Amino acid sequence: MAMIYCRDCGAKHSDRAKACPKCGRSVVNTGRSMVVYVLLAFFLGLWGAHKFYAGRNGEGIAMLLMGTVGWALIIPGIIVAFWALIDLIIGIVNINNPEKIFK
Ligand SMILES: [Zn+2]
Repeated sequence: MAMIYCRDCGAKHSDRAKACPKCGRSVVNTGRSMVVYVLLAFFLGLWGAHKFYAGRNGEGIAMLLMGTVGWALIIPGIIVAFWALIDLIIGIVNINNPEKIFK
C-alpha cells in the first residue's frame, strides 16, 4: 500500500481508496497510462486498440469490426475514423482524468 495525493484537493490518502476521503474524487489506480491510451487512439484507433486498453471491450470489438470489414461497406469505416478521432481528442482533453476513460 502506498500513499498518494489527491489531484483535486491535495489530501494524502491510500492508493487503495476508491475515492478521496476529503473531497470524494474517485481514484482510478489501474496502472494504465493516459499517454499510452492517446498513442493507441492515434496509431491504432481505427481498430479500437485504445478501447481494449481502457477495458471497454464491447466498444473495442465494434471499432475493430467497423475498422476492418466495415471498410468494405465504406460508411462504417468512415464512421469509425471519426469515432477514433473524437476518442483521441477526448483522451487528450482528459489526460489528467483517467477515471473518465478507464473502466
Ligand atoms: Zn481530494
